[in-house]
Amino acid sequence: MLEIKDIYKSFGKTEVLKGVDITIDKGDVVVILGPSGSGKTTLLRCINFLEKADKGHALFGDIEVNLKTASKKQIHKIRQRVAFVFQNYSLFNNKTALENVTEGLVIGRKIPKAKAVEIGKKSLDKVGLSDKYDAYPSELSGGQQQRVGIARAVSLNPDIILFDEPTSALDPELVGEVLTVMKNIAQEGTTMLVVTHEMSFAKDVANKVIFMDGGVVVEEGTPKDIFVHPKKERTQQFLKRVLPEDFTYHI
Ligand code: ADP
Ligand code: MG
Repeated sequence: MLEIKDIYKSFGKTEVLKGVDITIDKGDVVVILGPSGSGKTTLLRCINFLEKADKGHALFGDIEVNLKTASKKQIHKIRQRVAFVFQNYSLFNNKTALENVTEGLVIGRKIPKAKAVEIGKKSLDKVGLSDKYDAYPSELSGGQQQRVGIARAVSLNPDIILFDEPTSALDPELVGEVLTVMKNIAQEGTTMLVVTHEMSFAKDVANKVIFMDGGVVVEEGTPKDIFVHPKKERTQQFLKRVLPEDFTYHI
């Protein structure tokens, strides 16, 4: 469903991605782990053309594109299939929750306003915000704002949703509500590629875990492969550093 082949990206002299390959099947929940600066955000941004790769190909279902030279038309087509959830929510502050969700449907997808409102309400219901249609971002908690961000992604009915550390800007007590929403949409069969430091989410929800470091995929496998039997020393060291003391893996 999504195959990324040999992505390279540098910023000036800094080589950030050095030949990354990733394969995602329909219904997969793939979690990317890795230290800060390892290129995770850049990878997601290249997949969605928020950043232009220096080299690389992507196969989105039946569409193959060159990530460096893709035409505007191709980019538009891919963006119809891929949604993005940002670390900092990226909501319009002067629009209500519902307007934030319907904006992309009306402007990007050319869906008639009334239909967009119907889809938008359904999407907000799904993330538990039925009572917040008319609230502005400033009237919402961080957790609620991120749930609007997720509703916006879901409303587009994409083939895949990319999440870039969706809970890392949140106060700890608000992380759970966002992870619960993500778990629910995963259980509905949504294909997801999630960069996160939430190890319990990786363990419980992902069917594939990728460990990235220094712009390459160091190791990938099932959560059990990575958390119980990591093969590479770099993976072992990273996990030793980040896993909570009480982290246990039950099969
Ligand atoms: P991660 O998300 O894994 O923390 P990033 O992809 O954000 O890593 O960043 C990887 C490296 O690329 C970092 O060294 C960062 O400073 C650099 N980088 C990211 N975006 C830019 C940019 N727009 N301009 C220059 N350097 C960047
Ligand atoms: Mg990042």
